[in-house]
Amino acid sequence: MNYRDCLKDVLPYVPGRSEEEIKREYGLDKVVKIASNENPYGPTPAIGKFIGKINYEIYPDNYVTNLRENLAKELDVSQDFLLFGNGSVEIIQMISRVLLDEGDNIITELPSFSSYFSEAKIQNANIKTIRYNNEYNFNLEDMIPLIDKKTKIIYITNPNNPLGTIIESDKLEKFIKKVPSNILIVIDEAYFEFVRDEKYKSAIGLVKDYSNVCVLRTFSKAYGLAALRIGYVVADKKVITELEKVRVPFNTSSISQICAGLALKDKEFMRNSVEKIHDTIDYMYRKLDDMNIEYIKTQANFIMINLNKKSDIGAQELIKRGYIVRGGFPLMDNWVRVSISTYEDMEGFIYALKEVIK
Ligand SMILES: *Cc1c(COP(=O)(O)O)cnc(C)c1O
Repeated sequence: MNYRDCLKDVLPYVPGRSEEEIKREYGLDKVVKIASNENPYGPTPAIGKFIGKINYEIYPDNYVTNLRENLAKELDVSQDFLLFGNGSVEIIQMISRVLLDEGDNIITELPSFSSYFSEAKIQNANIKTIRYNNEYNFNLEDMIPLIDKKTKIIYITNPNNPLGTIIESDKLEKFIKKVPSNILIVIDEAYFEFVRDEKYKSAIGLVKDYSNVCVLRTFSKAYGLAALRIGYVVADKKVITELEKVRVPFNTSSISQICAGLALKDKEFMRNSVEKIHDTIDYMYRKLDDMNIEYIKTQANFIMINLNKKSDIGAQELIKRGYIVRGGFPLMDNWVRVSISTYEDMEGFIYALKEVIK
């Protein structure tokens, strides 16, 4: 078979290893997976009561009517400014498909989310990156000289994954003003609900004023619905119209549509989970300070920790002790990303970390 050349350079997505796999491999009773930024508190209990009660033989609502109506109201955007995906990763794929031809390029941050990179490569597009500054943050202005005629998409992850830092909203808007209006600026707000810094604002308010700005959101993180795969994009109607052309019909299931609706409604449950995660982050700061371990202050539900040794080796030592974390991020050789689980889980993690650092 003659597969496309661009695939030579594309690696399949490697998810964090499963708890069951590690239990078997190391004969452990308890394993904590803190590698994929999932939410230990799961979704609203309303979902447990609902599951099962759908017409299984009927295709899902291709227009996602109910969820669309509720989200449009909550976000104060027009209904035709929304499109749903089988996770927001699917929307990254759609965006790449409508904009990138061979030889085009995208600009993004390094490190940032791996899907931007793989989807661009699959389109035979090139990738230009800016690297973080000494505050583990990005000067977006550094992107301006990278823009050329072939630049089609700029991705900004806000908060950044894996760094956990944010771009302040006034800096973001200043940057947007400088970007030619024929380049799509994608602001990925997967962790928006976790942000505590007051200088942060969602970019959804900017979509009305700048038709080349779109915002990605997901139900996988703060709403605890990663298993059901549903996310969305807020963009100008004209952008949505093009994305609709490449969207696979019925790409979100009936169950995920209904459960996302239930999750959206139970704000109290979501805010409660976020609050618990904030308390646990503060606990982590205190412990890491006590241990004199370098970390990056986070605005998301994960934290980057400097192990002062190669991250794959450090991660392996943590896995042996039952803690699955994520290393191997570009430009972050000695760092691992640790998702914030429950307080009890993180207490155990800190104990394991003490042993590994020794
Ligand atoms: C987790 C994550 C996503 C993916 O979300 P899904 O909706 O589960 O596909 C997108 N962007 C970033 C930056 C993420 O960390």
